Amino acid sequence: MKVTDLTTFLLPWGSVFVKVDTDAGISGWGECSPMNGRVIQAMVVHALKPLVIGANPFDVEVIGERMLLRPYKLGPQGALPEAMAGIDIALWDILGKATNQPIHQLLGGCFRDRIKVYFSYGWDHRQSPQEVAAYLASRVAEGFTALKLRMGYGPLKGDTPDDPAIAMLKEIRAAVGDSVPIGFDVNNGYSAPKAIQVGRYLQDHVGIAWYEEPTPPYDYGAMAQVADALDVPVSAGEHEYTRYQFRDLILQGKPDICQPDVVKCGGLTEAKKIAALCEAFSKPIVVHNTQPTIGTAASLHFCASTANAYLPQEFTGHRDHFRPLFKNALALVDGHLLVPQAPGLGLEVDEEKVRATAVEIL
Ligand code: CA
Repeated sequence: MKVTDLTTFLLPWGSVFVKVDTDAGISGWGECSPMNGRVIQAMVVHALKPLVIGANPFDVEVIGERMLLRPYKLGPQGALPEAMAGIDIALWDILGKATNQPIHQLLGGCFRDRIKVYFSYGWDHRQSPQEVAAYLASRVAEGFTALKLRMGYGPLKGDTPDDPAIAMLKEIRAAVGDSVPIGFDVNNGYSAPKAIQVGRYLQDHVGIAWYEEPTPPYDYGAMAQVADALDVPVSAGEHEYTRYQFRDLILQGKPDICQPDVVKCGGLTEAKKIAALCEAFSKPIVVHNTQPTIGTAASLHFCASTANAYLPQEFTGHRDHFRPLFKNALALVDGHLLVPQAPGLGLEVDEEKVRATAVEIL
């Protein structure tokens, strides 16, 4: 089998889908990380497509190394692995369809056929703690059994006296009760001393399940200081890409939980290597995942086939604008996403709808 063509679709809300065609009549779909979509789309088409056309999709590992190393001046983190991810996921979709197997079966099998997910919610800064708590309680009432609050701060922007985080988490805890795990994502907002103060209060008086990116992503020393000082697990990994950055993160930042993102880290091939690295350090994996369709399907196959992905995984909820682009949908039952069992990703793209919706097709 040979790859004959590759097409990228930029959607109006920034998502980048990738379709890879083969001479066997089988096509696969992937997704790249959504920010700076036009740049990522151009990288897929101009830097990576020439490295993939004519290749055997079963050489997915060989193709992955070629994509990472040949355009090396574009950098091994950030845009290059984000662009690679769309192609890598599409190749795995092809392999699944060609062998009549769901992707998780090709990645080693199924540790769990349904994945508990937490509802990941980004604070709208106009909302009061009570409004946030009421909204999250309504999502729990709909069936979610775990939550995460994201503050959306950015580096050190939460280091202010009027930071509402503690008040908000107290309200959320009161609204949803003691049995719902709540993650707290600072989005890098605190300096180490403030992160330790807030984290200590939350672990002792509110009960949080994990403490995500409390300190700036460029300061592993600060993260290590926080992780050393607290009992609550510290998590990080959405700002790391390949196995090389995860090695440095683990050794220097000392997070307790690692958070690779399959649409950022280079795809499923790289995610499995990161998972093995984390396993050797006894670090559970919780995916970073903002993309509710192809990215989530790829994450489900990754989590299903990965021993150390046993914690609740990130899900930002179904979004209406995606629904028409697919012939089926990922099933969410009692706060769990069911791992697709159909060949490949198990999520069927409606190409005509994607073509009609895309703002740029290259
Ligand atoms: Ca995060």
